[in-house]
Amino acid sequence: MVRGVRLVILGRQGAGKGTQCMRLARHYVVPHVSTGDIFRASVKAGSEFGIQAEEYMQAGKLVPDAIVIGVVRERLCQRDAKARGFILDGFPRTADQAEALDEMLVAEGMPLDLTLDLEISEEDALTRLAARRVCSTCATIYSTARRPAIDWTCDNCGGEVVQRHDDTEEAICKRLADYNELTTPLIEWYTERHSLVQIGAYGTPDEVLTRMVRAIDARRCNEG
Ligand SMILES: [Zn+2]
Repeated sequence: MVRGVRLVILGRQGAGKGTQCMRLARHYVVPHVSTGDIFRASVKAGSEFGIQAEEYMQAGKLVPDAIVIGVVRERLCQRDAKARGFILDGFPRTADQAEALDEMLVAEGMPLDLTLDLEISEEDALTRLAARRVCSTCATIYSTARRPAIDWTCDNCGGEVVQRHDDTEEAICKRLADYNELTTPLIEWYTERHSLVQIGAYGTPDEVLTRMVRAIDARRCNEG
């Protein structure tokens, strides 16, 4: 079995981040820790930080970083992540959060191996997102170039494949601009610490995965 790995994956929407995180998780046999999922799970489980986070969310307030970090720590300190590592997806989102995450991971004795930024031009992201179609039942993703076999009926479940209402050009542009504003300082933060590698998110998903694995394995070889 290949050695596990501790990674943060960044990338604007349309870069295929979710798909690549799942593939990397399978390759390195580590949990794919998506912050959206762990938030829902910790609220449901009624964990210490989950309860606090829920109070903010129910009040329609932004959950403070200290609580977000608490939720992330609860997940990363579970046995699978401690033993094998993790692919962190959707966190951190700001340089402050990156700093807090770094401190927490060092304190827990599990520092990051690497941060990967899946790079795609804003223009390509817009094209990909505008072409995206999603099964309204099982959320399988299609595109105008990769349609289901029969009309717009999902190959997996027979559900209706539609364009999401927030995938309009205007909404996509707004999301991409928000991402740039938030993430540019984060990328700078990791770059200054030499722990960021940028990966071109073009070509087939297999080609992108190969590029990522090469970058990760090269970094680990260098560290001996
Ligand atoms: Zn479906």
